[in-house]
Amino acid sequence: LLTVTGLQKSFGGNQVLRSIDLDLADGQVTALVGPSGSGKTTVLRCLNGLETPDGGTVAFRGGPSVDFGAKVSRKEALSLRDRSAMVFQTYNLFPHMTVLENIIEGPVRVQKRARKDAVSDAERLLDRVGLADKRNDHPFNLSGGQQQRVGIVRALALQPDLLLFDEPTSALDPELVGEVLTVIKELAEEKWTMVIVTHELAFAREVADEVVFMDGGVVVEHGHPDQVLRNPREERTRRFVQRLL
Ligand code: ATP
Repeated sequence: LLTVTGLQKSFGGNQVLRSIDLDLADGQVTALVGPSGSGKTTVLRCLNGLETPDGGTVAFRGGPSVDFGAKVSRKEALSLRDRSAMVFQTYNLFPHMTVLENIIEGPVRVQKRARKDAVSDAERLLDRVGLADKRNDHPFNLSGGQQQRVGIVRALALQPDLLLFDEPTSALDPELVGEVLTVIKELAEEKWTMVIVTHELAFAREVADEVVFMDGGVVVEHGHPDQVLRNPREERTRRFVQRLL
């Protein structure tokens, strides 16, 4: 689906991404793991157009393909943004809007879809995550797990090719983690292409087709979860997994 080559990003003098290469196959779940500050969130934000990379290429199969080493027009940058949708660590729902309004905001205002279609899609998606009865509630009346399920529905409603999850369960109370992980596992079974930044290596091993270990602004090692997490080739990966598993 997507090939990322030599992705670079600095903040001031801090070069966070030195040269990141990723290859995401259609329907594949990639778990992006690595120490705190290694740039995992920045990778997602670059793919979703929330940050502009300093260099490198992001190429979706069949287009769009953007070379950030060259001058990138706003139109090109936006063409990438349309292909993916992000689920945030702290949900990022609009507090003044109802659940339904949160979900249809992107499809109606940004994608210019008919409101009626957006509402019926939103209702269908809410139903599938067990939240049909919450459509007129405001986010603050929902538990964290419910808010994050709305966050996932909001991403799905954009009909993206690629779903990006930034530590989707790390803000949740432990008893609420399961309901969100269940939804993510169902999406994996439906063969959504997903990148999941996570510190939960047990979950990564269970759901991911590939684990990518990042450190120092590069991909140190990637491969099948059993290989990377149980039998890493690189010393840096070994030290990381020993601390967490
Ligand atoms: P964590 O696991 O703690 O979430 P991470 O691997 O996702 O970490 P990032 O959030 O991508 O790491 O951050 C990588 C580095 O980039 C950090 O040192 C962070 O301070 C820096 N950084 C990220 N965004 C910005 C920004 N907008 N301005 C300045 N520095 C930033």
